Amino acid sequence: MKLSENQNLKTYNTFGMEVYARRFVQLESAEEVPAVMEEWLRQRPYYILGGGANTLFTEDFDGTIAHPVFGGIEMMEKSGEKVLLRVAAGEPWDNLIQYCIEHEYYGIENLTAIPGLAGSAPVQNIGAYGVEVKDTIVKVQGYRISTGEPFELTNADCRFAYRNSVFKQEMKNDCVITYVWFQLSTEKHFTLTYQGLVQSLQEREMPLTLRNVSDCVRRIRDAKLPDPAIIGNGGSFFKNPVVQAGKYRDLKAQYPDLVAYDAPNGDKKLSAGQLIEKAGWKGKRVGNAGTWKNQALVLVNHGGATPQEVLGVADAVIHDVNALFGITLEMEINRM
Ligand SMILES: Cc1cc2nc3c(=O)[nH]c(=O)nc-3n(C[C@H](O)[C@H](O)[C@H](O)COP(=O)(O)OP(=O)(O)OC[C@H]3O[C@@H](n4cnc5c(N)ncnc54)[C@H](O)[C@@H]3O)c2cc1C
Repeated sequence: MKLSENQNLKTYNTFGMEVYARRFVQLESAEEVPAVMEEWLRQRPYYILGGGANTLFTEDFDGTIAHPVFGGIEMMEKSGEKVLLRVAAGEPWDNLIQYCIEHEYYGIENLTAIPGLAGSAPVQNIGAYGVEVKDTIVKVQGYRISTGEPFELTNADCRFAYRNSVFKQEMKNDCVITYVWFQLSTEKHFTLTYQGLVQSLQEREMPLTLRNVSDCVRRIRDAKLPDPAIIGNGGSFFKNPVVQAGKYRDLKAQYPDLVAYDAPNGDKKLSAGQLIEKAGWKGKRVGNAGTWKNQALVLVNHGGATPQEVLGVADAVIHDVNALFGITLEMEINRM
């Protein structure tokens, strides 16, 4: 365990917000989690911070930040075409993608280049290009902070949904995830439901291999999303809103090009990016904050933006989308 006081978090969140944490504990192994919980986390407030790619710090944090840095990918079992991997919370997510490509394990290649750590992947059930991580997670291990007890949740216990899980509900800010277990396949198979991905493979005349699919995903992402190392951002700032079929029909009559995907119970999931764009916010800048020129759903820090500037843009976007469509956008990012 490594402890520091009055830690600048600027390099620990992809938005690049310059805020300070009173105490910052780097967790160097899963074994030291119980002692750290006992000594530091029981004194609230606390926050478990992975790569900070889904966290917007809005002020200095007068408490303890626990940041897992212990990594590692272990092959636990191989049976038939199935492989079981145990991945430690501090392992960067994209390292797992590279590992799977090298070993030819299929299932998560569409999730290439999502920033953050493996321990955070189940929290919001990361997803991209037709794949959600929930389809490969077998179990999640960790500790409950309120009781200090270890837990082991099966996939069903995690209650995964679109950008949601038990870790964002009952267990929100009450657990330290230590290991995530993934089941992947050695049998060649791909998810090619996203038209842009198919098109990219075809245009570049690339044979269907794990590496090629992963490369295409990376290229599509690079073209659309700002690199947090250059322009601070937290990826999709808002969730795609889900509306009832009737509401969708009314909007579609008004906006024939409205993009929508089927959601459970006959509902429709709209594209938050499109709504924001139609509200006139694509690529707009207010002071040092704004929305990204190639993807309106991404709020950005053009350099030196304060949390108040980012929140100001977020509030204005919510207001304008609501005024135009009668839909209230919900933040995907964790606001601290
Ligand atoms: C450029 C960009 C593109 C992105 N693209 C996508 C995308 O395509 N799809 C997608 O789903 N997301 C995307 N994201 C969002 C982000 O990458 C994911 O949400 C990722 O899982 C965040 O990981 P993190 O480690 O940085 O999480 P953090 O921001 O550090 O934490 C996120 C949440 O998880 C909790 N948490 C973190 N680690 C632990 C732990 N060990 N135990 C318990 N709780 C924990 C935190 O308390 C917090 O509530 C993008 C972000 C960026 C910046």
